Amino acid sequence: MTVIRTRFAPSPTGYLHLGHAYAAKVAFDLAKRHSGDFLLRFEDIDHTRVRPHYYDACRDDLRFLGLLPAGELPAQLERTPAYRRALEELESRHLIYPCFCTRREIEAELAQLTSAPHGPDGALYPGTCKGLSEAQRNERLASGATPAWRLDCEKAAELVGAAHFDDFIHGSFHVDPLLHGDVILARKDIGTSYHLAVTLDDARDEITHVTRGEDLLQATHIHRTLQVLLDLPAPAYLHHPLVLGPDGKRLAKRDQPRSIQELRAQGMTAPEVLQMLPASPLG
Ligand code: GLU
Repeated sequence: MTVIRTRFAPSPTGYLHLGHAYAAKVAFDLAKRHSGDFLLRFEDIDHTRVRPHYYDACRDDLRFLGLLPAGELPAQLERTPAYRRALEELESRHLIYPCFCTRREIEAELAQLTSAPHGPDGALYPGTCKGLSEAQRNERLASGATPAWRLDCEKAAELVGAAHFDDFIHGSFHVDPLLHGDVILARKDIGTSYHLAVTLDDARDEITHVTRGEDLLQATHIHRTLQVLLDLPAPAYLHHPLVLGPDGKRLAKRDQPRSIQELRAQGMTAPEVLQMLPASPLG
């Protein structure tokens, strides 16, 4: 019988807030309900925003809340060779291409189009660098330009065929590799991306159930696409509702008053903090 493994994957770029506590609790409860393992993994690829003291603050908040992980998985900064190898494989199969565009160039290009297709995160990349010849690419690389690497979503779609994913709350979805267009799989500044890293990490960590906020539901199309392309196992998914702030918007790091640290400093107990969270989507 497969032992259920869930993970909580915060970025150590700020203190945990109630939204994180809820995400951790959902992953914890799902694992415990099936005598499985709840694990902690720091998503720290964006090293420009990571601060060392947030790792310990997060561990301490989880301990305070009684959401103790069975173990801590290697953080992303320790896994960069695996990300590079996956990119090399995708490149050798011509499934990704280098993109030299700046944000401003993309905006200028989009402004000239009469209609620009949109995805869940806005206008899709207009494909400027997709048409570069081998010689043009080499010339730019030789000039020292660092490219981002984008998925060729049309080639990916041909390979992905009729894949699907199931979400405990939202139902079953046909994977649409075209939904996000030629999405970036390696950013210029960090050499990888959330999408690539999380897909490889979840596979390598043998996560059976990915639980996370429903703002990432659409991103799962990218992750399932990568799983098919890289021959990785498909976990089950649960995208839970987000904890909203007083303004009805998603809680963000800037909502420091609602950080767990702050609530603790006000003298709140763990059951009191947990009571502030929405009901569990597990019922
Ligand atoms: N680091 C992401 C977050 O804090 C988690 C994404 C995921 O669980 O896949 O929202």
